[in-house]
Amino acid sequence: MRYLFNIIFLFCLSISNSFSLEFKGKFEQGSFILGKTKPEAKVFIDNKQIRVSKDGFFAFGLDRDRKNNVLVKIIINKEIKELEKKVLRRDYMIQRIDGLPPKQVTPPPEVYEKIKKDNFLIGKARKIDSDIDFFRNEFIYPIDKYIITGVYGSQRILNGKPRRPHYGIDFHAPEGTPVKAMMDGKVTLSENDMYFTGGTIIFDHGHGISTLYMHMKDIYVKKGQQIKKGEIVGTLGQSGRATGPHLDIRLNWFDVKLDPLTILKN
Ligand SMILES: [Zn+2]
Repeated sequence: MRYLFNIIFLFCLSISNSFSLEFKGKFEQGSFILGKTKPEAKVFIDNKQIRVSKDGFFAFGLDRDRKNNVLVKIIINKEIKELEKKVLRRDYMIQRIDGLPPKQVTPPPEVYEKIKKDNFLIGKARKIDSDIDFFRNEFIYPIDKYIITGVYGSQRILNGKPRRPHYGIDFHAPEGTPVKAMMDGKVTLSENDMYFTGGTIIFDHGHGISTLYMHMKDIYVKKGQQIKKGEIVGTLGQSGRATGPHLDIRLNWFDVKLDPLTILKN
């Protein structure tokens, strides 16, 4: 698919006028979108300028509940092109989980400080706006054999109370299963014991695109380390707030939570 995409890019470049602009990815709620234009172009998404790589690649994503059209503005050599893209809506599942210990639904006050600190560290890692451009390549699944037990966007009702939607993909597999990096990247967070997410790793793939792995049993990587796609970064576990062994992965464009399957299905 990526090959075909490159061919399409090349084709478009060869026939284009000064405005080469291509998108890969659906303009749909929760989507990761990869774009390509000229390296010298300035790109604005919803009036906010975003990075363009030295090869002309850029990336952004659409929120779970995004309703407004996306405003794309490209400036190349003082020429301006503006377009509006409609965002397709999605239907999300409703997931009810009953009989949870109350402590799991509402954390006790003594852990609030810990949760605040964890959230701060995760937020900080997701704000990183580096110029690496690994996001343009094809991502791979983090484990080989799994059952998907949780999907993006589902509305969770825990013990009858509506809670935050689930933003990850849950891969169920035996504890200790090796977990691979989905893409080249740099480790920007590596923590063994976060309250909700347990053993947690965040990888930066460039331009604000990051992936997060949670509930890890062992973690083999350190903050600052460069990782290659396919490298074993740890093992699957059930650390943090988890009801059984599984790997939950997240995909972000800065603080916008995206559907990880939109990078994997390409
Ligand atoms: Zn999950």
